[in-house]
Amino acid sequence: MSSSLRLWFATLLVLTQLINGALCWGKEGHYTVCKIAESYFEEETVAAVKKLLPESADGDLASVCSWPDEIKHHWQWRWTSPLHYVDTPDYRCNYEYCRDCHDTHKHQDRCVTGAIFNYTMQLMSASENSHTIVHYNLTEALMFLSHYMGDVHQPLHTGFLGDLGGNTIIVNWYHNETNLHHVWDNMIIESALETYYNSSLPRMIQALQAKLKNGWSNDVPSWKSCHFHQKACPNLYASESIDLACKYAYRNATPGTTLGDEYFLSRLPVVEKRLAQGGIRLAATLNRIFSAKPKLAGL
Ligand SMILES: [Zn+2]
Repeated sequence: MSSSLRLWFATLLVLTQLINGALCWGKEGHYTVCKIAESYFEEETVAAVKKLLPESADGDLASVCSWPDEIKHHWQWRWTSPLHYVDTPDYRCNYEYCRDCHDTHKHQDRCVTGAIFNYTMQLMSASENSHTIVHYNLTEALMFLSHYMGDVHQPLHTGFLGDLGGNTIIVNWYHNETNLHHVWDNMIIESALETYYNSSLPRMIQALQAKLKNGWSNDVPSWKSCHFHQKACPNLYASESIDLACKYAYRNATPGTTLGDEYFLSRLPVVEKRLAQGGIRLAATLNRIFSAKPKLAGL
């Protein structure tokens, strides 16, 4: 192979990884967050979600929770790409809305936490003002909110700007070359499915639901709570994420490192807890939105 051809293949590999790595929690992660959320919906939320879901969902929110990932590369939806994450200054290990929530053109509020506030507000406006005409697409608002609530819990979706949340940190996951962001979006979950759940996602979700009833049951009320009677608290979730990114995701994962059993076994509990927290908090947020009176306008 000529050296220029080799270079072209190497460039293609990195580009492919960057594109793959730019995805969010993989399909499994988003499905898990939404499936857990569904089992904590109050009656009003079940009814409102059912009315808002597109026909293709067949009544199941979890089935459309990856929709924002599927559309974001289409030109008419490209504006949504910055809404899946928020980057923080390198090595600071903290997050501040005003400093960090903007896109690459410095447009304020264009990040995952801004998107959660925005879509919560859209759904609230329909829930509170039964007699005014709502100009928002509430079906999309529900699907975006459900997806971004998952994303904000993935620690590297609140990662450093310099490495694009781990996307440019090339590592080996056992024998496969990938990047650190992709490890946290997909690989840890996929390895857990193979190792512990016979590759069955429903079995993994069941195990997390069992933990919510036992090991985590004392923590669940505090996970749900939102200060100052707010409907959504994404700033808290992003602060937790960058803290976990520094303590777990970036630690011992410098470029070129091979990540194996030690990394997998010590990080899996973090991933499991973030998926469970994402589900509990999505349900709590939707319950707060839809328990507002009167009921959804014109639905
Ligand atoms: Zn996403």
